[in-house]
Amino acid sequence: PSIVTGGEEPEERAIEAALRPKNLHDFVGQHRVRKQLSLVLEASRMRGRSADHVLLSGPPGLGKTTLSMIIAAEMNVPLRISSGPAIQHAGDLAAILSSLSEGEVLFLDEIHRMSRPAEEMLYMAMEDFRVDIVVGKGAGATAIPLELPPFTLVGATTRAGLLPGPLRDRFGFTGHLEFYSVEELELVLRRSAGLLDLKVNSAGFSEIAGRSRGTPRIANRLLRRVRDWALVHGIEQIDARAASAALDMYEVDKRGLDRLDRAVLEALITKFGGGPVGLSTLAIAVGEETETVETVAEPYLVREGLLGRTPRGRIALAPAWTHLGFAVPAGVFG
Ligand code: ATP
Repeated sequence: PSIVTGGEEPEERAIEAALRPKNLHDFVGQHRVRKQLSLVLEASRMRGRSADHVLLSGPPGLGKTTLSMIIAAEMNVPLRISSGPAIQHAGDLAAILSSLSEGEVLFLDEIHRMSRPAEEMLYMAMEDFRVDIVVGKGAGATAIPLELPPFTLVGATTRAGLLPGPLRDRFGFTGHLEFYSVEELELVLRRSAGLLDLKVNSAGFSEIAGRSRGTPRIANRLLRRVRDWALVHGIEQIDARAASAALDMYEVDKRGLDRLDRAVLEALITKFGGGPVGLSTLAIAVGEETETVETVAEPYLVREGLLGRTPRGRIALAPAWTHLGFAVPAGVFG
């Protein structure tokens, strides 16, 4: 696993959980989503009703799970966590829904990966707080309606476009999470360093933030790798040099690109002459699933102006050639 997608070990997860901000106030950045969300929550508190269903979209590690926890905390209700891939049968969903308590927040990560029958059950549950439990098979099958307590669904997806229209339409509010600026990531890091009792100077923070790929989860992860490096090398205060030496070791480059990011650009340049090439062909060339390339690597590469999307496929933009040490081909970019 790369530094971007990895970190499934229990210890890493525990630290990640400890670093999560607990309320909207401590949640760094995402000003627009935060302001809109706080209005939605405030209004439903005033009405004494459970909050509208919320859809959060954006690349992994930008804070979707954290926001769902904050929503539950701000509404003072319990939180249930599940995910699309964990719900393969409508029955799995019915079991979860029927055990929710009044006002509970149900967080469904990767909601676009739910099975079709479960998805259809969810439509009705979201709209009417009711599900039909089908008993029996074939001609003798009957649907038994089951009333549900009002609840708030928080769905997370790496791309809102992956969701079928009817599902998307049933969310009262959609928040699109953006990559964080280097300054915002410095704030995330300062807070985490405080919690982990680490000494890092300003230059050290900006070196780590600059390599964090616009993503708080990666920022926190890099901070822990730098901490390990400093410990082993007997360094008390982490500065830019220590941070940079540590992160070079983990193959995170100055622009924050990790192995997958670089593999995508390199394949694009060396195997397809810079493109255009179709996304699925490109994914095969780097040995990854199309969805991973599209939702994990591509958004950041596009934002950084390294990769372009054209009607005929993906292309490597001039800065990508330069960044990987290739001469920009004459004539291609004017
Ligand atoms: P995934 O979709 O992969 O589950 P996610 O978008 O749900 O990712 P989170 O698990 O919420 O991401 O966040 C990852 C880590 O980043 C958490 O440990 C959290 O502490 C930190 N984090 C995320 N957003 C913020 C933020 N705005 N301010 C401070 N820390 C944040």
